[in-house]
Amino acid sequence: MKYSIKDLTKEQRATAEENGIKYNTLANRLFDGWEIERAITEKLNRKGGRTDKKVKQEDGKDVSDSWFAGPGQMVKCSVEGCTHSGYVITKTHCRNEHGMEREEVKKKFGMPQVLQMNLNQVRKEYSSFVVTH
Ligand SMILES: [Zn+2]
Repeated sequence: MKYSIKDLTKEQRATAEENGIKYNTLANRLFDGWEIERAITEKLNRKGGRTDKKVKQEDGKDVSDSWFAGPGQMVKCSVEGCTHSGYVITKTHCRNEHGMEREEVKKKFGMPQVLQMNLNQVRKEYSSFVVTH
């Protein structure tokens, strides 16, 4: 059977959005008879390595919309005075370093800042990166 975008739950739409699949793309896929699961999860096959990660500008900084960095990026903890950065700002970091849940960090300081990495930095950070979750 064919699905339409109206058949999707809120969660499914959110999943599509997280995967960078736009409303129109999604509608087209469903119209073409794709299964919902595939339509909301299969990422666009784009050349050039552009990410679909949404980044908004705040005070001249690139602010991430998630706690995870995209390709070639790092995220920096938004807590004032904290210099922690990595591929993800973990719940554990927020708890251990700041005594806060991520939600509290988000409320008080906003989402992490996105840092665009060059390859040398990436290598350096990789070697010192410790998984804490
Ligand atoms: Zn921190």
